[in-house]
Amino acid sequence: ELVKNEDLEVLADLGAGNGGTVTKVWNKKRNCIMARKLILVDAKPAIKKQILRELQIMNDCASPYIVGYYGCFPIDVHVGIVMEYMDAGSLDYIYRHNGPVSIEITGKVAEAVLRGLMYLYDVHRIIHRDIKPSNILANTAGEIKICDFGVSGELINSIANTFVGTSTYMSPERIQGAAYTIKSDVWSLGISLIELALGRFPFAEPPDSSSEADASDSEAQATFDANATLPLAAQRAALDLGGNSNGNGNNSPPHERRRSRGVSLAGGGSTMSILDLLQHIVNEPAPKLYSPRKDFPQEAVDFVEDCLSKDPATRKSPQELLKSSWIVDSKVTKADLEKWTKSTVEE
Ligand code: ATP
Ligand code: MG
Repeated sequence: ELVKNEDLEVLADLGAGNGGTVTKVWNKKRNCIMARKLILVDAKPAIKKQILRELQIMNDCASPYIVGYYGCFPIDVHVGIVMEYMDAGSLDYIYRHNGPVSIEITGKVAEAVLRGLMYLYDVHRIIHRDIKPSNILANTAGEIKICDFGVSGELINSIANTFVGTSTYMSPERIQGAAYTIKSDVWSLGISLIELALGRFPFAEPPDSSSEADASDSEAQATFDANATLPLAAQRAALDLGGNSNGNGNNSPPHERRRSRGVSLAGGGSTMSILDLLQHIVNEPAPKLYSPRKDFPQEAVDFVEDCLSKDPATRKSPQELLKSSWIVDSKVTKADLEKWTKSTVEE
């Protein structure tokens, strides 16, 4: 039987994103902890009904790489979704509190995400659409699972009316308006893996700041809110800038650039607006798994490069990536993952 809101007692806030807030809750009926996400849905009752109907697909999603689903319901202006509580939190939370994720563990994250993506696509024909560290969760049993995938087209539409789903993990073809494919998720995975291994968002590095290369990663880089999304008008503008390559990524007049920013970009004496960033993703070479102070194994560097092929036709599929030597030769076991996730919550 599906969980109802009356069964739940709020325990603590887990975080908030652009479209919702997540709380840790106690299920009085089942005597266990769960996570409840409330998504603001400003839509007519008929649309809400449709959303709740579409979310039922999650009932049939059962995989060790997908966060468990327990039910959904309308609650005032929100749609509530109850899911499995992941006690080590999201990967972005983990690296912000514990520093960069080791390359061995990063490889295990890659494998789990690929298996989750393949399950969603092969079994349900679902494309995730929002792979990023905050949607990859871990628990102290050593499991890594993905959440927040696009099951309900109606929900995607309703959220898009208030917050456009343009995020900085988007592939170049998506920024330019092409349809989502599973290859778009692969790009987002590549960006996320670099972020975990470096402990910072990869595009934060200003394109021409090589002189700062030997300062600490986090100090030298402009900080960029990777979770920022664009207002609709700004997204339209970004799409228009699509194929234009002028190298420095500054097409808009200075006052517009300042307005489009909306997030704090200070740091290292450089700034990059979200529009500049989207243009950069479209026009410049893809980022690489590289740090001046770390030696990453070549297999990991190659894997990330295969995720970040700018042309989706040459970008590898999840099946192909699972066969790569970095994943196949990984020596990280379930026990290592358990040890690692436990160490991140013990601090
Ligand atoms: P966005 O809204 O842009 O997708 P987000 O993923 O950070 O950003 P939410 O999905 O609302 O936003 O999640 C907020 C935070 O709640 C996450 O960053 C994560 O740390 C935490 N969280 C989400 N789901 C769970 C869960 N099932 N178990 C434990 N923590 C969770
Ligand atoms: Mg999320």
